[in-house]
Amino acid sequence: MRASLAETPSAPSHGPLTRVLTVCIAVILTIGLCSVPAHADYYSGGVGSPRFSVRYTGVNDTYVNRFNTSRGNWNRTTNTNVSITRSTSSSVNRTMTAARYNDSWYGLYTPSGTRNNRRFVIRVNARTLARDSGSNMTAWILSTTVHELGHALSLADNPRTSSLSIMKHNRNRTRTTPYAYDVSEVRRIY
Ligand SMILES: [Zn+2]
Repeated sequence: MRASLAETPSAPSHGPLTRVLTVCIAVILTIGLCSVPAHADYYSGGVGSPRFSVRYTGVNDTYVNRFNTSRGNWNRTTNTNVSITRSTSSSVNRTMTAARYNDSWYGLYTPSGTRNNRRFVIRVNARTLARDSGSNMTAWILSTTVHELGHALSLADNPRTSSLSIMKHNRNRTRTTPYAYDVSEVRRIY
């Protein structure tokens, strides 16, 4: 099974790309040329198609509505082929749920299987979101859920761009729809 992607309140860690960029900066300083790896924002744990069904498990009407809105916020993106539908069939093994998890993250995306037969579980943490969202609980739930669905659409955490992105951990969580950059990335990937 692939590793889960957790969205935590803490700062993102710095991975290999940071080191690549550091090398690039050194190159810029010396010869003024830098080649950043293409598709740096691509996440291979997503679904092979932007059209797929999800099933909700163990959530009340409030979370059903939040999940429906989050799907709609992706489905309404322009000039993408995104279509995330809801299914109640037990054979659908891409699931979304929410609970008061005793973990630090706001949301967790856990993929399994292969890209062309992708399964995943999206978990939304009602405990940490209630703790940290102040009067913006609804928006933070939506922001988290849209972010996690972004992983299903092959978007990585913390893209290396100055553009705003729903995939950045340090974003404004009252924004509940994908940004133009996110939409352009989904277009590019699919
Ligand atoms: Zn994430």
